[in-house]
Amino acid sequence: MVLRFYNTLSRQKEVFTPLQEGEVRMYHCGPTVYKRPHIGNYRAFLFADLLRRWFEANELKVTQVMNLTDVGHLTDDADAGEDKLQQEAERTKVDPWAIVDQVSQAFFADLNALGVVPAHHYPRATDHIPEMVAMIEILLEKGHAYRVGDNIYFDVHSFPEYGKLSGNRVEDLEAGARLEINQEKRHPADFALWKSDPHHLMKWNTAFGEDGFPGWHIECSAMARKYLGDHFDLHTGGEDNVFPHHECEIAQSESALNGSFVSLWMHTRFLQVDGGKMSKSLGNVYSIDDLIERGFHPFDFRFLVQRGHYRTSLNFTWEALKGAAEARKSLQDLWSRLANEMSKVSGLSAAAALAQAEAAAEVAPFAKEFREGLNDDLNTSKAVAALFGLRTAVLRADFPEPNRTAAAALLYAADLILGLFPAEEDSADGLSDAEIEALVLARTAAKAAKDFAAADDLRNQLTTAGIVVEDTPQGAKWHRG
Ligand code: AMP
Ligand code: ZN
Repeated sequence: MVLRFYNTLSRQKEVFTPLQEGEVRMYHCGPTVYKRPHIGNYRAFLFADLLRRWFEANELKVTQVMNLTDVGHLTDDADAGEDKLQQEAERTKVDPWAIVDQVSQAFFADLNALGVVPAHHYPRATDHIPEMVAMIEILLEKGHAYRVGDNIYFDVHSFPEYGKLSGNRVEDLEAGARLEINQEKRHPADFALWKSDPHHLMKWNTAFGEDGFPGWHIECSAMARKYLGDHFDLHTGGEDNVFPHHECEIAQSESALNGSFVSLWMHTRFLQVDGGKMSKSLGNVYSIDDLIERGFHPFDFRFLVQRGHYRTSLNFTWEALKGAAEARKSLQDLWSRLANEMSKVSGLSAAAALAQAEAAAEVAPFAKEFREGLNDDLNTSKAVAALFGLRTAVLRADFPEPNRTAAAALLYAADLILGLFPAEEDSADGLSDAEIEALVLARTAAKAAKDFAAADDLRNQLTTAGIVVEDTPQGAKWHRG
């Protein structure tokens, strides 16, 4: 097994070697829970889910952490503006803690609807204030941070490698900085670790003063350290996280803890809507619920995301979603056609099912294409193309019968790895595969007994449930409509 991933830090694809053999520890920047995440956020979160599933299919033990940012994320990522939660609380006149609870619940409901495998930890920033304070104290002690009143800043000049992730240079940042924003800082590119504000609705009494709250960047450094250790394998986020958020995380963690923080940085390109940035004024900041309201299944969106590669831009349109829904349906149809064989492979692990597919001559090229696609920087586009290749092959009249089980194994593995079909789609309109088989057999028996009225009745029942029955020389065959 050779997994290659594009590392934002080295700007090239690298062979992935876990720090600890057989194990992967990874951290994903999760949502800022001031309003319900939109479909763009879910592109980033679905990528995290894919990583998890592909590592596990490669029999690696994964520890996965996704944080919830519930304080400290300012409206301007570059250390200015107002706390997003504070602003939302003031705008809506709702207690910020109530907003956090409500949005977090919606987030978990969305993850569930999208079939995301739950991470091992979903730490909330506000539950980790002591860990942040401890890290800031180390930075103060080591001379990487300084206090101005009750505010504490990170001194970017104390970390010569600042800029190594994003390619930004401190001199350039400072030349372009709006100096009037904060006269307290020693250097314009310095960023806040801790802010004091008596009017803040979420504030803590700590060694640094009475009314303070953390900066956004220190939250992720501290939570990642707590759950994954000082040095771990992989950190992800959307492309906007590269700078300043992840650049600042690196500066803090490497300064406080000595040595490398994260080996591999992966970033998802943004999802756009109708060719541009989503915006409230255009009314196109869509949530997962908006897709459901228009008659789509959340898995249609999941499939849309996976038909593209995470490092290419993805333009969401309703037409594109419709195309993804139809394409997914045709794979669902393939699943139905292989229903008998599915029962022979169900229960296998993804690794075992993929190995079984690779062992059968007629299916091996597709299984190989599927695996190679994912091994090569998680190219889901290639992996999905392999499934359509499989579909065409299986539909050929001369597809060899003994290979049908291997074909089922590949589709089964693909479902475990990509999450193609939600559990309820194993039954159309309440009819399970077994029930459909029973109705089809009863109809065949009725026809043989020349009871055509009963046979028609049975066919109607199937048609109403969206099942198409075709009479072939080999007997009645069915698939979902
Ligand atoms: P936020 O809630 O703004 O903290 O963002 C949560 C995660 O979603 C971060 O990793 C962002 O980089 C990511 N993200 C935000 N907008 C988009 C988008 N349009 N496409 C992809 N990822 C996004
Ligand atoms: Zn983060």
